Amino acid sequence: MFTVTKSHNIKAPKLITSLPGPKAKAIIDRDLAVTSPSYTREYPLVVERGDGCLIEDVDGNIFLDLTAGIAVAATGHAHPQVVQAIQEQSAKLLHMCGGDFYYEPLAQLAETLAAKAPFPQPSQGDKARVFFTNSGAESVEGALKLAKYYTQRWRVIAFVAGFHGRTYGAMSLTGSKSVQCQGFGPLVPGVTHISYGTHESLDYLEQNLFTSMLPPSDVAAIVVEPIQGEGGYIMPEDGFLERLREICDRHEILLILDEVQSGMGRTGKLFAIEHWNVMPDIITLAKGIASGLPLGAILSRPEIMTWPPGSHSNTFGGNPVACAAANVTLKLLENGLIENARKRGLELQEGLTRLASGYPYVSLPHGKGLMVAIDIQDRQGQPDPAMRDRILQDAFYQGLILLGCGKASIRFSPPLVITTEQIAVTLNILNEVLKNYP
Ligand code: PLP
Repeated sequence: MFTVTKSHNIKAPKLITSLPGPKAKAIIDRDLAVTSPSYTREYPLVVERGDGCLIEDVDGNIFLDLTAGIAVAATGHAHPQVVQAIQEQSAKLLHMCGGDFYYEPLAQLAETLAAKAPFPQPSQGDKARVFFTNSGAESVEGALKLAKYYTQRWRVIAFVAGFHGRTYGAMSLTGSKSVQCQGFGPLVPGVTHISYGTHESLDYLEQNLFTSMLPPSDVAAIVVEPIQGEGGYIMPEDGFLERLREICDRHEILLILDEVQSGMGRTGKLFAIEHWNVMPDIITLAKGIASGLPLGAILSRPEIMTWPPGSHSNTFGGNPVACAAANVTLKLLENGLIENARKRGLELQEGLTRLASGYPYVSLPHGKGLMVAIDIQDRQGQPDPAMRDRILQDAFYQGLILLGCGKASIRFSPPLVITTEQIAVTLNILNEVLKNYP
């Protein structure tokens, strides 16, 4: 039996069956017969329970999780304080619809987020405003509506390889993989994609697009990830985000930062944008905000979120149990986990840099804090997605849970509770895997 106390003694993955084990295999067979074929399951992992950075499958195999369920389990799997808050809140109130009624966990969470949002100091004492959603895509969808409503403009600028979600507005902003939009057209009109992260791209925007087919006075917003997530954990060039801000100011365009993946402490700051001297107008959040319960948020400067009652709302957003989990999550982040993400992130990057020096097909790491990736390249230095996928599979069979991103990158987005020792185990396993490649 895997318990919180016992698992702390487990230093490394422990595999006791072949993979998938018999119970996992049976569940996978049942699942595949009835679930949507659009799901992308990378390998046959059937999770029973989790604790910190460890997860146990249904056959009793223990894995080290470097994904946090795609950057969600910020405080680790089943953090006891988060679990307690969920249990206590669910015994009191499961749902009441925050769009129609009031309850304290929602007000408390909105207060905390409004106080921490990296917006300019309120001029007249107004705090930032918060709208709660159920997912990242819904946060982006709402932010897009808000920007169009506020500016009464219809065009939006987004970035190639950006990822913002699967609903129509969010999908229309996404520039990631063709399979994500192929066959779903027509998309939301008015979106122009430009290359991410380079001054060259902003030169093109200003010197060509703005003077020809994209009048800036028609542009409601620029939607950008401060560090591209699904696109490959890509860092922008120095000065890129500052210049975006300056372009927005000059043309009264809103700057929307999609911090769904980069936010909630993952990069070593609560919001990734705090690594730069840039203040956005709107921020979208989700993923890590409630340690695994479905919750998202749109944060806005107060003068922007002025849409009237009934213009935007939902049924489940800001659910009391999810808010209770988020309130504890934020405390845990502030009380050490953001700092842990920063420190462990440096150790991870150092270790990956050492690893890269031994393998010509592994790039130097890029990213910030615990949002880090390496790229797998062929002999010509081109992305090699097939080799990346084989490495991910091999790591799984050694008990290391990793996922890809970008064209041929391997991402490291562990729970923010990861320890120095667990980073060392990760690097050792990866080294053993990489040794087998020519
Ligand atoms: N925005 C970013 C930056 C993301 O990384 C994601 C998901 O990966 C989304 C939005 C969509 O979030 P969700 O899957 O919760 O809809």
